[in-house]
Amino acid sequence: MHSVALTPGFSKHIVVVGAGIVGASTAWHLAKMGYRVTVVERAANAEIALGASGGNAGLLSIGHYPLTRPGASLRGIKWMFSRTAPLYIKPRLDRELLTWLWNFHLHCNERHLARAMKCLAAMGWQTLEILENMLQEEQIRCDYARDGWLDVVMKPENMAHAQAEAQSLEQFGYRWQRYDQAELLQREPCLRENVAGAIHMKDSAHCAPHDLIGGLVAALPKHGVTVRFETTVKNFRQTRSGTITAVQLENGETLLADGVVIAAGVWSDALARLVGVKIPMQGARGYHMQLEYPSDNAPAAPSTGMVLHETFVAVTPMKHDGKSQLRLAGTLEIAPLGEPWMNERLAMLMKGSDAYLRGIEAMTPIARWAGYRPCTSDGLPIIGGVRNKPGLYIATGHAMMGMTLGPVTGKAMAQIIAGKKTCVDVSALDAHRFE
Ligand SMILES: Cc1cc2nc3c(=O)[nH]c(=O)nc-3n(C[C@H](O)[C@H](O)[C@H](O)COP(=O)(O)OP(=O)(O)OC[C@H]3O[C@@H](n4cnc5c(N)ncnc54)[C@H](O)[C@@H]3O)c2cc1C
Repeated sequence: MHSVALTPGFSKHIVVVGAGIVGASTAWHLAKMGYRVTVVERAANAEIALGASGGNAGLLSIGHYPLTRPGASLRGIKWMFSRTAPLYIKPRLDRELLTWLWNFHLHCNERHLARAMKCLAAMGWQTLEILENMLQEEQIRCDYARDGWLDVVMKPENMAHAQAEAQSLEQFGYRWQRYDQAELLQREPCLRENVAGAIHMKDSAHCAPHDLIGGLVAALPKHGVTVRFETTVKNFRQTRSGTITAVQLENGETLLADGVVIAAGVWSDALARLVGVKIPMQGARGYHMQLEYPSDNAPAAPSTGMVLHETFVAVTPMKHDGKSQLRLAGTLEIAPLGEPWMNERLAMLMKGSDAYLRGIEAMTPIARWAGYRPCTSDGLPIIGGVRNKPGLYIATGHAMMGMTLGPVTGKAMAQIIAGKKTCVDVSALDAHRFE
């Protein structure tokens, strides 16, 4: 694969499209290697950008299974037409969607899971180390804590399933601990007494993602990176032989580039198609509700991030201006991009948490948000260069794991551009695997 290797005395310019976690991490690593970097972001700032990186649950859950788990497609079919099921697919006759769903189904098997986990587990181990270095070097305060997350189970009969999933991750070195009801309630007094127990995935972390991405993007100019907000990439310029030489902006400007990285989340597919590359993705919209504890008599907040096993709601404690907040995030909704919000799905977050957590009804909702997970049909990210388009690179498709895997993706992407050996094996993540 071609590279944009640095040559002493020559400044090489890379344009990164998208200031989400993937684009920002890529830009940070490129700048540290000595490239001149411009990040182009159509939103007005990184924290509330249109993408997913500021609004997600903030669980840095390494060793997480991809969406393509055995049985996931069949469970999805059962749910897909209900507007209040964890997964909702808006019924429509859309060839792209039907092809994506069929390919997704074909990947929901043990063989693919084993292949996927070999890659994702290795990325997981590296990503927190890379992130911790970035946080320390840039002094980013984002409530980061490497204290794992709890899979909180309501129905006793589901404990065995939660435990089996955790056990299956032992082969990759991931550690877990089971809490039965009494131990769990002692550890987390915010939980209601009807929970059965929890599995603690011990190696993960959590953070306030808007502070993480805001801090990282704010740190980029210190390393010489130009960040251009409210600037949209409209097209690419290429030579007859296909070498990408510039990006064309909506405002009519052209930015010359030695290399271009498409890290535009769910919008990456549309951008790549402009130069004839297909990376079929669906945007799986999710929502969050940000709640603030009342200052008086608040029940203790969760000590760490949680996922509520039966309702799939992620619950993450965060601090803002010294105030204690909770982010409730989740639900998966596959519909055309830009459709109006489905308020019943926002309500599901409250209902799905209230069943497990005391004091939700007394909290003040302070923000609501929706954003898109960029989902490939095989559940794996895309990280690599594009054949026959020298100078073009793609880093996207992290679905529900992008906040977690963004830092290692950024490092690997920068290494690919520089023509160096990557810190993780990205051979399964090639951009051409969907052709
Ligand atoms: C509800 C929810 C909860 C989640 N929880 C977690 C979690 O707990 N842990 C986890 O690891 N992941 C989680 N995720 C997934 C994670 O948020 C995403 O995978 C990740 O943020 C994707 O990052 P990205 O940089 O690829 O894309 P994005 O963050 O979407 O960034 C892409 C950027 O590109 C910009 N852009 C697009 N097109 C253009 C253009 N033409 N010109 C200029 N700019 C452009 C967009 O404005 C956007 O800012 C969650 C997602 C959702 C929706």
